[in-house]
Amino acid sequence: MIEATLNEWKKWYAENRTEECRAIGKKREELDDDEVFIRLWNTQDGIPPEGGESFNAKAWKKPGSTPAPGLVIVTGKGEPPLILTNQKRREEAAEETEKWQKQKSKKASKAKESDSDQKKADEKAKKEPPTSRYLKKPYQWRCRDCGEEFDATKPKVHCKRNPRQRAEVSRDSTKWFNQFLEDVEWTYMPHREISTGLIGVIDDEEADALAKEAGESLEKILNGEEMTAPKYFDLYNERTRYLRVSDLKEHSKFKRVINRIVGWRKAKQKPVGKAPLGVIEIGHAFDEFLEETFENIQSDDWAKGERVRFDCEELGVSVGGTPDLNFKGVPVETKTLRVFPHEVPEDKNQKSIFKYKWKKNYSKQAALYLQGVDNEFMLLLLISRESGAFTVVPVNDEAMAGMEENWVVWAEKYEKQLDAYKKLIDEE
Ligand SMILES: [Zn+2]
Repeated sequence: MIEATLNEWKKWYAENRTEECRAIGKKREELDDDEVFIRLWNTQDGIPPEGGESFNAKAWKKPGSTPAPGLVIVTGKGEPPLILTNQKRREEAAEETEKWQKQKSKKASKAKESDSDQKKADEKAKKEPPTSRYLKKPYQWRCRDCGEEFDATKPKVHCKRNPRQRAEVSRDSTKWFNQFLEDVEWTYMPHREISTGLIGVIDDEEADALAKEAGESLEKILNGEEMTAPKYFDLYNERTRYLRVSDLKEHSKFKRVINRIVGWRKAKQKPVGKAPLGVIEIGHAFDEFLEETFENIQSDDWAKGERVRFDCEELGVSVGGTPDLNFKGVPVETKTLRVFPHEVPEDKNQKSIFKYKWKKNYSKQAALYLQGVDNEFMLLLLISRESGAFTVVPVNDEAMAGMEENWVVWAEKYEKQLDAYKKLIDEE
């Protein structure tokens, strides 16, 4: 393997070196599992395969904590590191080195120390925009049931439920949104361009006709809507009381949740103290934006999605989830992407990232929802956050088979944790 997403590399490391591993990037960086990396072979790794690149420099700036510029390192106790990079990170690193050298020569020629230190700090802030921010107390909440909004330092049960925590959309992201809304042209495109060969995509005239109808209807609706940037977005909180559809897709996620869920159920809900910035925040805010937009749709064909439940026999648990929308009785799930691969043909990473997301996330989520409804297929609405281009793909539950195999393995591996969770559910 030469090129793969970070998640795949972590799996590779777990299988070939040690399971207890972590990936380290820039200082305080939250790494995206979907980012695509190529591997570099250092002397310890031996001769790279054909097409692979060797690496003969220092991998660490600070051993074990800071990789050299442009690198992301997967590391585990007692095992050699796995050195990763990609084009984007290399370019960034080259740029930083250049700036740093310029600054050094400037500093040598003039300016007082304090002055240049300030400049250096400013430069640094420009180079590495922060990826999160601390939230001020009191925190902001919204009732999951009646929708009432309130401020509180600690979560207060409302309508007998734990409330949802929210954060204000940051100024930068609001700016991004306003620009997006000014430029956007919501454009429906038929799905074949991007869906050929993907798991679960069905080849059926009737389903295609419905997808097309949904897409064209939505194009009209979205372009006719008066839209404003969202003010708040829901903060993601991993702590849950019930296993969710989204916990059954990937082993790493399932493992984390099943190992902790009993503890979460016993502890009080804790507020989230930090909110994301940048792409992650825009992703969340975009979901909020679509939710608000869809709530205002006046049409007999479109409706809110209905909650679905299904019993996962292999794990012996029941899980629930809610697709975003419903078009003429068919559930619709929305996913936003930064861009579609064909919108940026020069960026080859986007193709593998899209394929990866489809396989690991979209197709599985659709398959899981389909277990809880009578439909043979559902629709996936995919939207580009850069351009507003979107497509609608009819998908069946082909991805189930692979997941069922996984669940059989997980059921055995996490028998104790599952039993403890089920016991608590039975006692409710
Ligand atoms: Zn309420």
